[in-house]
Amino acid sequence: MTRPARIAMLGGTFDPVHNGHLRSAVELRDALGLDTVHMIPAPQPPLRDTPQVSPQQRLELLQTAIGDTPGLKADGRELERDGPSYSVDTLRSLRHEYGEQARLVMAIGWDAFLRLDQWHKPEQLFAFAHLVVIARPGHADAPSRPLMELLDEREVDSVSRLMASPHGQVLRVTLPSTMAISATHIRQWLGQGKSVRFLVPEAVESTILREGLYQRWQSAY
Ligand code: ATP
Repeated sequence: MTRPARIAMLGGTFDPVHNGHLRSAVELRDALGLDTVHMIPAPQPPLRDTPQVSPQQRLELLQTAIGDTPGLKADGRELERDGPSYSVDTLRSLRHEYGEQARLVMAIGWDAFLRLDQWHKPEQLFAFAHLVVIARPGHADAPSRPLMELLDEREVDSVSRLMASPHGQVLRVTLPSTMAISATHIRQWLGQGKSVRFLVPEAVESTILREGLYQRWQSAY
């Protein structure tokens, strides 16, 4: 019998993509034995006080960052939709693409998990996917009561238990390399003309500097 496909969605603003995202994606792929991790930029980052970079530019930086990394894919499907973009619609489209038996995972960092109860109908996502919550340095707040209840109801304690069914469960993982990198800091440093060397892939850094992205002025880098 062939093994069902194992697929993950790692959504975010990727404004810009950094090595914390990329290393998490690779380690998630290996920890869960995933065939493909779809890294999917959201169309609308919240309003920011730094110069805006278009969704298309964020997707292109993501493509540049991933290069030919096996099992990682820059996926622009949320940019093709009109109107607000809900993760549940993206999961529905991935489920449609991979079929009923695929093991579909939505992966989020602990910070994003803490905001899950503010989402539009969070329970709906379990009809399509499992939720894998990745520990993130500097983000260790306790979950709210509804999120604790969700963990009580759905949490499993191993990858094999998670992969026994196509969707509906929660697994918390701590990946081997935890990196305290955030896009917020990268935008701030670029805005101040500071170096982001080794925080993003070199090709991403070159594109950012060449095109003047996130910078208020051309720095003496
Ligand atoms: P910002 O600082 O602009 O909020 P961010 O660095 O948190 O951005 P996002 O694009 O919002 O990046 O994150 C996408 C997903 O990746 C989220 O689920 C987030 O928790 C996770 N993530 C981001 N940075 C890391 C990291 N360093 N380690 C593990 N997970 C991360």
